[in-house]
Amino acid sequence: MIATACHLDEPVLVLNRAWMASRVVSVRRAFTLLFRSVAEVISVNQGRYDVFDIHSWLEIAQLQRQFEAGDHEWIRTASSLVAAPRIIRLTGCTRPPDHLVPLNRRNLFARDGNRCQYCGDKFPVSELSIDHVVPQSRGGGNTWTNLVCACVTCNSRKGSRTPQEAGINLVRPPVRPRTCPDRSVRLRRRHYEAWKVFLHEAYWTVELRD
Ligand SMILES: [Zn+2]
Repeated sequence: MIATACHLDEPVLVLNRAWMASRVVSVRRAFTLLFRSVAEVISVNQGRYDVFDIHSWLEIAQLQRQFEAGDHEWIRTASSLVAAPRIIRLTGCTRPPDHLVPLNRRNLFARDGNRCQYCGDKFPVSELSIDHVVPQSRGGGNTWTNLVCACVTCNSRKGSRTPQEAGINLVRPPVRPRTCPDRSVRLRRRHYEAWKVFLHEAYWTVELRD
């Protein structure tokens, strides 16, 4: 499975800083961004994200070759072999706003990076819910600034109260994201399953309405 430079043209999903899918680039281009330190590798493993800068990604290549050789496409660098990333996230500047971002579960979860906005911990999507900061029963709407990801524990602890009444704080104020995921990408290959975290499931794209 240790292979060659032909993988340099394989597709890599690019996320913006808000963890939303923005476009697809080649492995070659991804490495350019990584070596310029304007992007990091996102490795999705059983619903968990691991983040690597280029240096740590090069470092773990040896372990990956030992234990996961068949799970990666390998790229030869000047001195060694390194796994082709499948997802990278831009850490530098983001594009200016170009259109409104649909308010849906996927984009909310992407904005919050799958972190509960009350305890700040990261969870698998199956363990996260959408919480109205100001409860609907109190006039809170389905808006970017009133919806956040919450874990089951925090959600039930908060109940139908405001954070202030429940004595808990948001880790950061919810905002409307500035860039939108690209919906035109199609998943073709088994090992791009990881992309699904960020793309395509209808559940995540249903508009949330009042
Ligand atoms: Zn929580």
